[in-house]
Amino acid sequence: MKITSVHAHVLEAALSQPFANSLAWKDTRTALIVEIETDDGLTGWGESYGPARMIAAAVKAIAPSLIGRDPLSTELLWQEIYSGQRGHGRKGVVIDALSGIDIALWDIKGKHFGLPAYRLMGGPLRTTVQAYATGLYRFKSGDPVAYLADEAAGYVAEGFKAIKLKIGFGIEADVRATRAVRRAIGDDVTLMVDANQAYDAVAAIRLGHMIEEYDIGWFEEPVVPEDLAGYLAVKAALTIPVAGGECEFTRFGFRDLLVAHALDIVQPDVCGAGGLTECKKIADMALAFGVRCNPHIWGTGIAMAASLQLLAVLAPHTPPALTVAEPMLEFDRTEHPIRRAVLTQPIEHAGGFVRVPDGPGLGIEVDRGALARFAAQ
Ligand code: CA
Repeated sequence: MKITSVHAHVLEAALSQPFANSLAWKDTRTALIVEIETDDGLTGWGESYGPARMIAAAVKAIAPSLIGRDPLSTELLWQEIYSGQRGHGRKGVVIDALSGIDIALWDIKGKHFGLPAYRLMGGPLRTTVQAYATGLYRFKSGDPVAYLADEAAGYVAEGFKAIKLKIGFGIEADVRATRAVRRAIGDDVTLMVDANQAYDAVAAIRLGHMIEEYDIGWFEEPVVPEDLAGYLAVKAALTIPVAGGECEFTRFGFRDLLVAHALDIVQPDVCGAGGLTECKKIADMALAFGVRCNPHIWGTGIAMAASLQLLAVLAPHTPPALTVAEPMLEFDRTEHPIRRAVLTQPIEHAGGFVRVPDGPGLGIEVDRGALARFAAQ
């Protein structure tokens, strides 16, 4: 079997209502979908996390080196792409592109052997994964304390046992929002907060002390990713576990975070940190350091399916025992017109749990009509 084509689909969809995290307002959602075809008729699908048009350029530049190659050689092709751009591509867009390509190759491999990717990776260790609801962004009108509480209560009513609140809008506003959401969801639901790099260590520690009383599951991206000393200071000062890593890349990047003991929870994104091949290595390395791994996910159903394949083969956070702490699926609940449309059978949760797709490869079927409908101009 040989690779005959590698294509990057840039997709784009306008939102009905803009929303913001601490960094920016969003009025569109974009996606970068990788499609790899082979001479025996199999097609593999992948997705990259990050700036879609830039990543598409990288995929296009890498593509000629893949034509005629054996798509089952995922390890070899990963090494070749990585080494080929080592001088300028160790982090960022090149690794995003490599991630989407690697995922598409695993989809082909699974389809070739008629098995889900997780079987070829040695799993499953679990066939359903607990999902946490990611939402609770900000809108242009209304009182956040009121609409965040309503939204959070809605997730609990749907069955979610864990939810993540966006913070980073100023310390006082964050405390008010955290208090309102905790009151709305009661004591039995896990509440995490995500500042999206909004603070320096001084502000993050001050805020962390003020919200510790609301039993916070983790404090995500308190500071910018390059501020390793800031992460260490926040982690040392707070009882809240510190999470991060959605903007880190490959085993080499995560090695540095782990050796520094900068995080309690690493969050590699399968679609950005190096694909299934690399994220399994990152997760295993984290386990060896006694650090939890909860993959970051911000994409379409293809990204969710790839992440579920990884989640199916991750070791539990804690050793086998009567009760174990398990990794969770990040389940984005913000508006994303492409997320469900791209799959003929969208990924659903039932009572806050998601079944790992068990068809060949990623276990999904892509709707080509949606690719055409959302193709960026
Ligand atoms: Ca995040």
